[in-house]
Amino acid sequence: MLANEGHPLLNNAQPLDAYWMPFTANRQFKQAPRLLAAASGMYYRSDQGSSVLDGTAGLWCVNAGHGRPEIANAVARQLLALDYAPSFQMGHPIAFQFAERLAQIAPEGLDRIFFTGSGSESVDTALKIALAYQRVIGRGTRTRLVGRERGYHGVGFGGISVGGLVNNRRTFISLPGVDHLRHTHDLERNVFSKDLPAHGADLADDLERLVQLHGAETIAAVIVEPVAGSTGVLLPPIGYLERLRDIATRHGILLIFDEVITGFGRLGTPFAADYFGIKPDLMTTAKGLTNGALPMGAVFCSRHVHDALMLGSDNTIELFHGYTYSGHPAACAAGMAALDIYTSEGLFTRGLELSQYWQDSMFSLKGRLGVIDIRTIGLVAGIELEPRVNAPGTRGYDIFVDCFERGLLIRVTGDIIALSPPLIVQRDEIDLMVSIIRSALDRIA
Ligand code: PLP
Repeated sequence: MLANEGHPLLNNAQPLDAYWMPFTANRQFKQAPRLLAAASGMYYRSDQGSSVLDGTAGLWCVNAGHGRPEIANAVARQLLALDYAPSFQMGHPIAFQFAERLAQIAPEGLDRIFFTGSGSESVDTALKIALAYQRVIGRGTRTRLVGRERGYHGVGFGGISVGGLVNNRRTFISLPGVDHLRHTHDLERNVFSKDLPAHGADLADDLERLVQLHGAETIAAVIVEPVAGSTGVLLPPIGYLERLRDIATRHGILLIFDEVITGFGRLGTPFAADYFGIKPDLMTTAKGLTNGALPMGAVFCSRHVHDALMLGSDNTIELFHGYTYSGHPAACAAGMAALDIYTSEGLFTRGLELSQYWQDSMFSLKGRLGVIDIRTIGLVAGIELEPRVNAPGTRGYDIFVDCFERGLLIRVTGDIIALSPPLIVQRDEIDLMVSIIRSALDRIA
């Protein structure tokens, strides 16, 4: 197929067939491609030369904004000094340096770092560490993993099994022995909450229910996103995470926070664990780890989990797990340069400074056609729209396309708009986002 032959990038009749795009309606996209060709600061530039304000930090990852020369130069230097080195039974200095740097900003005690190549790999790694931990402390019957409805934990088989998004699961097989907590979305009781939702802390007791159902001695770990992102921005009800922590601790179940989107300043603190003041046993990260410049993930492990596995004679491999690209030198260089920017520009806390302005701006959309809820935290917003009768998701998609054509990149999950701009966003850029979304809402019923 030669789609959209009038398109500048396709003037040479460049075919689009070879690239099988992820999480995309390929045939629809290829009839009217949206191509981003360059980026700097808060803006993308489309291949047709128009400016597109980045309302989503790419995919929740470009927290320091685009095209940062500090990161590009650090990566280039590293590639010329040491492009790649194996990480199995070998090491290279920058991986140790980066892990040390991360340990310094980690929530207290979560300072043993396992590098991966993505969020999905971080999730699978954390689940495996949890299983290995339970086994090594003599609780080998604890093989069950618990996730949550509407959770997103990437696309590995571990991640889709504990995940709770039906489209990501139903075509594929899931791991056996997985169960799910109920999700926390309760529009009826919590609609247009300006702070954390007041109702729903008791939903954490679902973990207690699963303990009664399966027996604590079968459960290794529970994994949740502290703020659920991909499902459309669901904030934890007041007291929910505390209660989950408490129940997990009482029953010897490890608590994993999936901080792939909340890590690195998204909520106005380095991690959501800091924001909520709750310490998980394991924390999965990726995305903002390198400002999205190179693929990389990291699992932050608490000392007690890590140390329990440091057993046996010194020549024992403690965890039979790892990736060719674990601790990739160029990704470590990108990550250290990103950390330098985050700290020197105060980006870990910028979300807190801006959160009131952000919230007021988003709530100015209340009352617009079809807006049935608005949720904000830090520099994240979810704007939920009434689905069209018999055509769920189409309104969200039409608004997404309309915003893009008017110069704003948003993300939609079904009929929920999710916004998560780079943390360098300025107030006038927030105003621009809101005005483009407002006019899209007014136009598209
Ligand atoms: N976990 C969460 C909470 C995510 O939001 C994502 C991606 O959006 C992932 C895991 C998967 O990350 P990746 O796409 O890097 O594999």
